[in-house]
Amino acid sequence: MTTGNQKPRRLTIFGSTGSIGQNTLDVVNQLGGREAFEVVALTGNSNIGLLAEQAKACGAKLAVAADDSQYATLKEALAGTGIEAGAGREALIEAGARESDWVMAAIVGTAGLEPTLAAAKRGADIALANKECLVSAGELFVKAVARGGGRLIPVDSEHSAIFQSLEDDQHHAVERIVLTASGGPFRTWTRDQMAGVTAEIARAHPNWSMGLKISIGSASMFNKALEMIEAKHLFDLRPDQIEVIIHPQSVIHSMVGYTDGSVLAQLGSPDMRTAISYALTYPDRAPLNVERLDFAKLARLDFEAPDEVRFPALRLARTALERGGVQGAVMNAAEEIAFHAFCAGRIGFLDMADVAERVMEDMTQFAPANSMDEVFAADTEARHRAGRIIAHKEMAA
Ligand code: NDP
Repeated sequence: MTTGNQKPRRLTIFGSTGSIGQNTLDVVNQLGGREAFEVVALTGNSNIGLLAEQAKACGAKLAVAADDSQYATLKEALAGTGIEAGAGREALIEAGARESDWVMAAIVGTAGLEPTLAAAKRGADIALANKECLVSAGELFVKAVARGGGRLIPVDSEHSAIFQSLEDDQHHAVERIVLTASGGPFRTWTRDQMAGVTAEIARAHPNWSMGLKISIGSASMFNKALEMIEAKHLFDLRPDQIEVIIHPQSVIHSMVGYTDGSVLAQLGSPDMRTAISYALTYPDRAPLNVERLDFAKLARLDFEAPDEVRFPALRLARTALERGGVQGAVMNAAEEIAFHAFCAGRIGFLDMADVAERVMEDMTQFAPANSMDEVFAADTEARHRAGRIIAHKEMAA
């Protein structure tokens, strides 16, 4: 934001057409719009109509579609506006490298890693929604941000809550962090009941309105598994310091437990705009039009222990955390392939965790993650192996 004669803050929004991206543009408008911010670049994948509309509305300098077959459509949609059009992987990376002060990383999946790295390397502040950057590249990603000189500010509501509950200079006194999880739509279901669900059923989250991948990940608890690994790298924790608790109301967004027995938490309505706004204004806070918590109406907050038998993704995250190296990249890549196969009706809901576990067991020898090349190699190999396991499952069905 600007005060007086300050220049508008320059923003890049990766994944602007998605759930987080649209919420980010809403926050940008609420916090001053063009008066306060200059949008350098917006990116989407194939929703060209929305991307062009957003670019025109906020006066973006550049709009990029990841899907390179959409270049002509995007160029035509932006004709006469003066907004530059780009498409494809290289154009996305170039958008990341283009000078701006703050970058919202909200592409879904590992596709977000390279463009976000390009922005991190040139020293932009990274507002990180794309947890896959940390799950796959972990320490390498954190180091790239640090070397670039920008700040890494979490957007995931749980990690934003922890970030907000961490006291300055008290890292040594952090005993544990507690990630809350709503439990998703199948919190009380048996494995037999879950076996037959479709993507349409699995995507209906009880509290949050989100993109398809994270909604299904909330139902399978794979999203929480990714968040456990994300937390490790963001806050430099040991695996035994990371707890998960089911909290169906999604009011406490997560907590930090200290060595003196205190637990600090951040609470709020289930609305991502609060975390996005905090990432945009950090370390300040700005007035935001979101629903306020009404404690009298809430009356109670419930908690229950997670069930790692019904939701094996949590167990897989612990394994990945303990093994370290590229195991996060392997788990994430295998799950991404399994997620697409589930959405296409090729495998069942429970098969997603099975595919990820089998690929992880097959690839324990790929342990170190000394370079991005090693991470990408493990990611590619995990995708191939997941594809083969899925094909076998289909043949056997
Ligand atoms: P959506 O599916 O709603 O949006 C994804 C965005 O990425 C869209 O702009 C989409 O473009 C674009 N995209 C899709 N595929 C590609 C690709 N291959 N290359 C480049 N861009 C692509 O996702 P969400 O907004 O829900 O989530 C984004 C990220 O934020 C995820 O990592 C998620 O885990 C994380 N997150 C999301 C939360 C939420 O509340 N939604 C909460 C916390 C974290 P198009 O629209 O054209 O397909």
